Formats: sequence, C-alpha cells, structure tokens
Amino acid sequence: MPLREGQIGNVDPRICGGRLSIDVAALAANYRLLSSRAHPARVAGVVKANAYGLGLDVVAPVLWAEGCRIFFVALPQEGVTLRALLPEAEIYVLAGLFESQAAQIYGEAGLIPVLNDEADISIWEAYGWDGDDVSRPCAIHVDTGMNRLGLSGQQVKRFFHENKLTRALSPQLLMSHLACADEPSAPLNRQQLESFQIFDRLFSGIDSSLANSSGIFLGSDYAFDIVRPGIALYGGAPQAGIANPMRPVATVEARIVQVRHAKAGESVSYGAAQTLDRDTIIAVAGTGYADGLHRSLSGAGVPLRNALLSGGYGFIAGRRVPILGRVTMDLTLFDVTDLGAGAVSHGDWIELFGPNIAIDEAAAAAGTIPYELLTSLGARYHRRVVNRERRTNG
Ligand SMILES: *Cc1c(COP(=O)(O)O)cnc(C)c1O
Repeated sequence: MPLREGQIGNVDPRICGGRLSIDVAALAANYRLLSSRAHPARVAGVVKANAYGLGLDVVAPVLWAEGCRIFFVALPQEGVTLRALLPEAEIYVLAGLFESQAAQIYGEAGLIPVLNDEADISIWEAYGWDGDDVSRPCAIHVDTGMNRLGLSGQQVKRFFHENKLTRALSPQLLMSHLACADEPSAPLNRQQLESFQIFDRLFSGIDSSLANSSGIFLGSDYAFDIVRPGIALYGGAPQAGIANPMRPVATVEARIVQVRHAKAGESVSYGAAQTLDRDTIIAVAGTGYADGLHRSLSGAGVPLRNALLSGGYGFIAGRRVPILGRVTMDLTLFDVTDLGAGAVSHGDWIELFGPNIAIDEAAAAAGTIPYELLTSLGARYHRRVVNRERRTNG
C-alpha cells in the first residue's frame, strides 16, 4: 500500500537540517473533495515537476488508489518516470512533441502528447502514418486567451477539416488552459469559456478539459469532461479571498541548531540589515534559501523585498515567531523572545509551513505563490510520508 508511513529517499533524519512531511491522508482527501466538486467530470492528477516538488513516487500511487486514472506531466521525461510507477495510467504530456525522435519514446512508453502547434501535429502524423494504419492517440490544445501554448482558432479549423479527411490522428481530448481562474471576477474567464465551448462543439464525441484547480471553483460549466487540478491536490488555496477548503499536504520544518541571546542595538545576519530594538532570544534554524526558503522571506527590517510584505514566520512551541534578518543559504534566524527563556531548545523543530502556517501565507510573505515555494524545495530534506488520519481498521 502506498499509504505506509516512513522515510522516503535516503536523507538520514539524524543528520539533516530540515524535514519535509507528505500527508498522504490529506492528499487523498483533497482528491475526493475535488471529485465531489467536479462531479460528473473525471478528475485527472497534474503531477508535473515531480508532483510539484512533493515526489511523484509518493503522490502518483496515492492518487491511483483514490481512483485517478488520468495524469498530466509537463515533459516526456516525466511521463517515462510515471509510466514505470503506473503501468496502466493514461498519461498526457503537456509540452507536446519536442522533435521527431521523441515520437518513438512516446510510442514505447504509451504517452499521449498534447499537440500544441502544427509542428507537433505533423511529427505525430508522420509517426502514426508509417505504413500501418494505427492512428496515434493525442490531445489537441487550443488557445482561448492564455497565449502560451495551443492552436489558434484558424489552425484548429484547418486541422479539424484535414484530419477528418485523412484520419491520420485520433484526438481523444480537446483542452485549453485558463489564465485567470484564481480571480473569479476576471472577465477573461467567461471569454475563455465561451471560446472553448465553440471548439467543444466542433470536436463533439471526444472528451474536453478546461479547468485547473481554480477553474473547478468557477462553476460547473467550467468542468466539461475532465478537470486538471494540481496545486489544490497539494493543499494550495484554489481561490483567493475565500477559506481554503483543501487540507495541507506538505509540512516543512527546520531543526533549531542554536539558541542565542543578543542585546538591543545589535544587528543580525548578513549586511547587518536588521537592528534589534530589544534584548532578543534568537533561534537559528538549519534551513535556508538553498532549501527553497526564499531569501525574500527575510525579516521585516530587511529592505530587499517589496516594503508591503511583512517577512516570513515560523511556528514553534505553539506560537508564530517572525524571521529575523536575512535568510542565508543554510540558516534562518527567528525571534523567539516572546516565548520566554527556555521555551526553545537546541534540536527542536520549527514549522515553516504546514498545518499552522498556510502555504499560501508563507508564499505571499516571500512575494511568490505556493507553486514556486513547493517546486523550490531542495534535495537536502529528510522526506517522509505521514498519514494524519489514521484508520483503525482496514
Ligand atoms: C500546471 C497545469 C495545470 C494544473 O494547474 P493548477 O493551477 O496547479 O491546478 C493544469 N493544466 C495545465 C495546462 C497546466 O500547465
């Protein structure tokens, strides 16, 4: 069973500066919540970038056990890795076909390319039309306003008519991507929906997919046949301004490697960028920007980020404590004065985000988004699977 608790990877917990815990019960619960929201649409799992940094090897089997059968990765290389984990999954590759040589690898690993432009289409046609008449499954990506990947309206019509004659390809999915789904009031959402509805009628008889995590919360007309959540599976808030219905999946903690006492008027960390306005107890934690704890999380007195941001926090001994001074490569300083002398000791763990500090809040304090925070987590963590909703019977 993939839900077994314990260490993953080979970083020994006794000699690491930080640990990353993946709550597989929360991940499974998030999949179920999205399924009930999107019903009757099927919920695919977006697991690109090593499942948003959390580990494809942990995430993919948990989603499969919850009934997820469709997966999206960004790169063919990720698809090959996923194929080894899930022999029967339907695996779509978002970035399309890089070159004609790649088609062979897609064929061998049973990957389904998302064809994004006419070059992709002709590569896949050539691969599928090689004497045999086995037409290759694929997805067609249409652009409805994001201007990143996908065919224009004209290219779609041309493809539709030509392919109807040649039957070279068997598109089994039509997809597009929303640019502003996390802002429900953005007018582009409805424009993209209406544009996609036109394509959807043209390609009747195959599945359609428009919504990412946030799109699922825009309303049932955005769901079509398949929805493609990523960040919400991993606990990120699908929409700003409303309570996050997802459970936190990732917890990042750092070990306290020193507790020290400094005097009012002294400065802390590189650049002496922050001066203490009181006698201060400083807890030094063993992770830094090399572990994805962005330097822009540095303490409130450090002028290296948007002045509106307040700096990051940690959570220890039941309370939130602010970061002090600049975040450094391997170490981050926290002001634990308010906890009182003796409250924090060498060897304790401080949470950087997880159940007590929302990942969205930690990301906002760093001037970024949860996606970037998760995918920046470095290789030095002791990684472990936890199952915070213990079931007592099988
Ligand atoms: C990354 C991605 C998703 C998932 O987006 P989330 O906002 O993480 O839910 C869905 N579709 C496409 C095309 C993507 O690139």
